[in-house]
Amino acid sequence: MHNLNIINKKTKRSRVLAYLVLPTITLLSACVEIQSSSHSTEKNNTPDTHKEEPGQAKNVILFIGDGMGISTITATRIFDGQSKDMEGEENSLAFDNFENVALIKTYNTNAQVPDSAGTATAIMSGYKTNIGTINVRPGQKYEGCGSIPAIKTLTDRSHSAGKSVGIVTTTRITHATPAAMFAHADNRNWESDNEVPREAKDAGCKSIAQQMVESEAEIIMGGGTSKFSENQLNTLKANYTFAANKADMKNFKDGKLRALFSKSHMSFEADRDPAEQPSLAEMTETAIKNLKSNQEGYVLMVEAGRIDHAHHGTNAFRALTDAQALNEAVKVAIEMASEETLIMVTADHSHVFTMAGYPVRGNPILGLVKSIDQTTGLPSDSYEKALDGKPYTTLGYHNGPHLRVASADNRPLTNEDVQDRNYRQQTAIPMNTETHAGEDVALFGHGPGSENIRGVMEQNKISDVIDLALGLN
Ligand SMILES: [Zn+2]
Repeated sequence: MHNLNIINKKTKRSRVLAYLVLPTITLLSACVEIQSSSHSTEKNNTPDTHKEEPGQAKNVILFIGDGMGISTITATRIFDGQSKDMEGEENSLAFDNFENVALIKTYNTNAQVPDSAGTATAIMSGYKTNIGTINVRPGQKYEGCGSIPAIKTLTDRSHSAGKSVGIVTTTRITHATPAAMFAHADNRNWESDNEVPREAKDAGCKSIAQQMVESEAEIIMGGGTSKFSENQLNTLKANYTFAANKADMKNFKDGKLRALFSKSHMSFEADRDPAEQPSLAEMTETAIKNLKSNQEGYVLMVEAGRIDHAHHGTNAFRALTDAQALNEAVKVAIEMASEETLIMVTADHSHVFTMAGYPVRGNPILGLVKSIDQTTGLPSDSYEKALDGKPYTTLGYHNGPHLRVASADNRPLTNEDVQDRNYRQQTAIPMNTETHAGEDVALFGHGPGSENIRGVMEQNKISDVIDLALGLN
């Protein structure tokens, strides 16, 4: 078990990270160019000030909260605290105690505000690329369809070092983030065979589902049977232990596991039937238990993929309960993983989700903003009012599908309205779906190799932190 109070001391002020990961002088000069070009994809596009040699890790567990920006983390911390009868603000999430933290710049090569395909490629494979593309470089049409793709997946890099690989998500396994562990695709929507255009097929491109069927990762768990043909599903069942529900997963003892728990995405944590679908923490436990048996170590990616989906629908309740489920999975990793394990928690990108002023300390995080009496400093009896004379919630969105119409009959919102699990927070700009946000996200790291997590980092450097910690090529 990890002791979070002990900071790894195996450091030497002798090497500069940039020189370790840039193989040639040519790349170094390319790196300078990157500062001025938004379309470059070479590694390491910031001058690196990291000077300490990282500790060596045997294993890496990478947690990704899809869309878990910093405001989501703060709100989840309070939500989680209030669910334990605390005021909330003083609560700590499991990764709040990690000893190394950095801010991560998330932009894609052609997008100021990114998507999960480009960001997952950066995190796992070390290259920033275009929005919507997985493990291919910008402008390189069908590059991932050849026999030797230019960008090596984290699964392949890990296997080259003899390590086992686990991929766990609550989305369809063919969705952008998990796909970046094992697949190459010019378009993230090439999830099923039917979604790959004829021309791309002729060029040898395969669907993400087919690439999952061919993946040699040891453990793959998520949702999304609907993206697989009957033949593909039969191939999975013939070659691996296949789990269709929680009981199947619990029965899995050893070997390789393929689990598809739902037709499309798995349920939000708030709607999950615990008899049918495992929690993210239970999937994490199963994965670690199995992966640990490899003496050479393992790499495990665990995604809480539906925080993002709840935010897109401006439903803060499900975003926070899914982020809370991620926190529970992180606790499992801290308990089960050996000291030789680098554990990281990050988000691929943020959302336009915000916390408004000035609720009293301990105010329900999903509730209306209760004001503070300026003369006494104590909570007043009334709610804060906007210029329209109506109360408003602490949590809200910059854009999305629920405009500031107080209620269907235009009466002021009540605390009962806004704390309903299906309540969709109000938004300033009307859009069909709420969008991602472009500000930095956080990266929390614990264990050997996490010393390289600090300052403001380009997102593709997360992959370097993994490679350096594990000695991957
Ligand atoms: Zn999204």
